[in-house]
Amino acid sequence: MARNTLPVVVAGGGIGGLAAALALARKGFRSVVLEQAREFGEIGAGIQLAPNAWHAIDALGVRERVKRPPSSSSRCC
Ligand SMILES: Cc1cc2nc3c(=O)[nH]c(=O)nc-3n(C[C@H](O)[C@H](O)[C@H](O)COP(=O)(O)OP(=O)(O)OC[C@H]3O[C@@H](n4cnc5c(N)ncnc54)[C@H](O)[C@@H]3O)c2cc1C
Repeated sequence: MARNTLPVVVAGGGIGGLAAALALARKGFRSVVLEQAREFGEIGAGIQLAPNAWHAIDALGVRERVKRPPSSSSRCC
């Protein structure tokens, strides 16, 4: 059966939507992330990640990027 080449539409660019888009990309699927907010911004001062979150981060192959301290050039806004 031919593979559907249309992009998957992901509603919401939070961590869930971005993780879904990354997981799709790693499996060879294109996606379009639709975010209603005009821009991304920081909420709070940091993030705590439970062990199950690290399993998901490992599955997505981004552990080293998540562990990397933020720099001014990596900020989105
Ligand atoms: C102050 C604060 C601190 C937190 N600290 C931690 C922490 O340390 N560790 C931790 O694990 N969790 C923490 N959380 C919880 C964590 O932020 C949430 O569990 C997580 O962000 C949920 O991700 P999500 O992608 O499911 O939803 P969201 O982050 O809510 O993302 C959903 C996105 O979808 C967009 N959206 C909604 N409807 C539409 C639409 N119709 N069309 C287009 N876009 C749409 C929204 O604008 C939003 O950007 C914290 C939450 C807050 C508020």
